[in-house]
Amino acid sequence: MDLRHKAQVVSDHLEKLYGIPERDSEENVLDCLILTVLSQNTNDVNRDKGFATLKETFPTWEDVLEADVESIGAAIQIAGLHGQKSRTIKNFLTWLKAERGELDLGFVCEMETKEGLQLLCQHKGIGIKTASVTLAFACGHDVFPVDTHVLRISKRLGLVASNCNAEKAHELLPQIIPTGTELPFHMNLITFGRQICNARKPKCDQCPLTAYCLYFKGEL
Ligand code: SF4
Repeated sequence: MDLRHKAQVVSDHLEKLYGIPERDSEENVLDCLILTVLSQNTNDVNRDKGFATLKETFPTWEDVLEADVESIGAAIQIAGLHGQKSRTIKNFLTWLKAERGELDLGFVCEMETKEGLQLLCQHKGIGIKTASVTLAFACGHDVFPVDTHVLRISKRLGLVASNCNAEKAHELLPQIIPTGTELPFHMNLITFGRQICNARKPKCDQCPLTAYCLYFKGEL
């Protein structure tokens, strides 16, 4: 089975399991970017707590811009890597204000996807996953973010090679997944990764994809 066909089959099975999830179209673009920066190397609960504390401490992004890095770091400490993340946030807001005169990132949604990704990725601390999540969830672009669940499942199913890293997977997977299904496929893979294809103990006895899985067949 070629990879495009396999990706289509996987997508179809996950849609049968979980339906076609939709993004929240009200999501603010800058909020989405900063939330995704906070999500690096932590879980959703601590990411959300860090974001909530940041917003409580500094109600507007202008307030964050005026704060020093240490104060931003203290507000987001629970999300981990707070030194690195606070510098990323401060540097990005400083750039945005200088570039646009206001802290509004909505303009990236009007850009070509490739250009938007390049623009965001030129900033230290903002990688392809963070940029892809922002354009997919906040802008509704057809982009396919690869997080830890997506990468693990893609390897198990043989959609990418077992030694493929996340950066390379961001290049390869969009070439094989069904056009227009990027975001629902991404969201369904995350649900599948949390509920069935867990990192440590996948529940293969509950999985509809065993016939396509290299891990299940012992080929990995
Ligand atoms: S068969 Fe097991 S390892 Fe393979 S995709 Fe399903 S749950 Fe994951």
